[in-house]
Amino acid sequence: MSLGEFSLIERYFSEPAPAGALGVGDDAARIALPPGTALVACKDLLIEGRHFFPDVAARSLGHKALAVNLSDLAAMGAQPMACMLGLGLPRVDEAWLAEFAQGLHALARQSGCPLLGGDTVRHDAGVIVSVTALGTLPVDHPGLRRAAALPGDDIWVSGFLGAPDIALALLKGELTQNPALLDRLRSSLEYPVPRLSLGRALLSLAHAAIDVSDGLAQDLGHILMASRCGAILEEQALPVHPALADIEPVRLRQAILNGGDLYELCFTAPAAKRDQIDALSVKLAVPLSRVGSITNSPGLWLKDRRGQRLAVSPKGYDHFAGHA
Ligand code: ADP
Ligand code: MG
Repeated sequence: MSLGEFSLIERYFSEPAPAGALGVGDDAARIALPPGTALVACKDLLIEGRHFFPDVAARSLGHKALAVNLSDLAAMGAQPMACMLGLGLPRVDEAWLAEFAQGLHALARQSGCPLLGGDTVRHDAGVIVSVTALGTLPVDHPGLRRAAALPGDDIWVSGFLGAPDIALALLKGELTQNPALLDRLRSSLEYPVPRLSLGRALLSLAHAAIDVSDGLAQDLGHILMASRCGAILEEQALPVHPALADIEPVRLRQAILNGGDLYELCFTAPAAKRDQIDALSVKLAVPLSRVGSITNSPGLWLKDRRGQRLAVSPKGYDHFAGHA
């Protein structure tokens, strides 16, 4: 690569490691686990043309590549500790790299998740970004597992639903152009905020949790499958993003139930925790909505505004759907 692989790494990806840790520059990184913790690890892979547009703002890509992993740590209730970056680049574009690195390092600093290493290779067929995030959980806590929902649990969702899905549809030209609306929704798609403090606080309140990356129906469906139970959602309780009031109702329902890229947390908790969860919402200034309940019988149902029960199919995003 023109700048040279090693000077590129040195210039853009060598932030100082935290005290006592070994970061970028040796054969591997080293970091001490805080006493009494277990290691939690996750990894996401983002490919140009599949997960992001070729002309996406590089800063947004740097942010999002880390954010989607922090969201997975949040959904376990874990505390971030460090991250690693795998990068495939068709060319060395320094302006692009500077923006990308800023987006990643800014979120890394903000969330206490410094970049400690990675690998950089040339990849002619487009940009590939893969971040591995490492975090910790108390050694005696299994984390917020998908399999831990119980019949009778309330179902909760953080934040608002629908915005990134509508933003994506506007960018793709699937909805009539509306620059003012796109302005309001764009950051939800490009700069998702991982719910880390919420996830950690839920360790003592929630049973199961998942982050909504592929759509509420599909991701809640993973909890139901793992926990061998069903659920009913109340349509009127679903927290629709306030900017979406004018979206046609059928399209809106699709955005709310099946829209991905959201990175809010969906979690289940016993009814006895309602007051504490409401108080947590105030304390963290994060909207938390009670949207339904876990049932004994399998299946996912939506009770609409007229009280009718509709079966919900988990049609979120599936990379292999139709490619059997
Ligand atoms: P090796 O050949 O031993 O795998 P590299 O030459 O690939 O080592 O990497 C040199 C150092 O730079 C290592 O510490 C590695 O973790 C780090 N590194 C390489 N690419 C990245 C990247 N994209 N982000 C952060 N660190 C990186
Ligand atoms: Mg290498």
